[in-house]
Amino acid sequence: MQFTKLLSILLFTSILLVGCSNDDDNTPIETNQSPNKQPLGNAANDLLSDINFKGLTIEIVSVQGFEPTTTAVNTFRNFLEDRLFKPDGITINQRSVSSSNLAPFNIQEISQIETTTRTQFNEGDEITVYVYFADGSNEEDTNTKVTLGTAYLNTSMVIYENTLRNLSNNVNAPMLSTIEAATLNHEFAHLLGLVNIGTTLQSQHEDTASRGHCNVQSCLMEAAIEFGSGMMDMLGNGVPELDTQCIADLQANGGR
Ligand SMILES: [Zn+2]
Ligand SMILES: [Zn+2]
Repeated sequence: MQFTKLLSILLFTSILLVGCSNDDDNTPIETNQSPNKQPLGNAANDLLSDINFKGLTIEIVSVQGFEPTTTAVNTFRNFLEDRLFKPDGITINQRSVSSSNLAPFNIQEISQIETTTRTQFNEGDEITVYVYFADGSNEEDTNTKVTLGTAYLNTSMVIYENTLRNLSNNVNAPMLSTIEAATLNHEFAHLLGLVNIGTTLQSQHEDTASRGHCNVQSCLMEAAIEFGSGMMDMLGNGVPELDTQCIADLQANGGR
């Protein structure tokens, strides 16, 4: 009786130990990802102000060979530092992954790729944003209209890097770094709630023909940037900036 009891205790202990080591090896650290899975525009104030989050970490995940240029990432960082209150600073982490082989993409596929490649989620007073540089195009592209990027959740966006590179190969095209920076800034400004998607309008400058865009000519938030059309003209003088009305909207929602 005594012996049987001892044996069963030993067995139980060894099972417990096995269970523990399995947990260590296989179970990912529990993170609450739901704050990063909200509709586009929901994190506008959290990204702009320092009320809930003092720092910002951006995770750029690129397919190997489709990484953004250093110039574009620096321009993107400057744009963010001009507009956001983040006293703990803005950190940009970059990593490369292998191809998903899913191109051309719909947004559900991009979202699926995010679930397997995103590693950074909000923690404490640090908010995180995921940017995927894809090795293909959006499946709805046509001969006359291509999509350069899409902001699809409150802290998630995709850049169709292969499309950007094809555009930059055209005669008289803007430099790749200019197209990349314009697309990064434009899509991130959607995360900031522009135009009228989470950040309240301070004046009427919404493009009634294209939701989420600005009707001021050559503003960064003109729809033409996101959809290649007319982009050649727009980027002739470098990366477009936000006009005063877009900046006023951001400032009213806690931004710089
Ligand atoms: Zn847009
Ligand atoms: Zn504008």
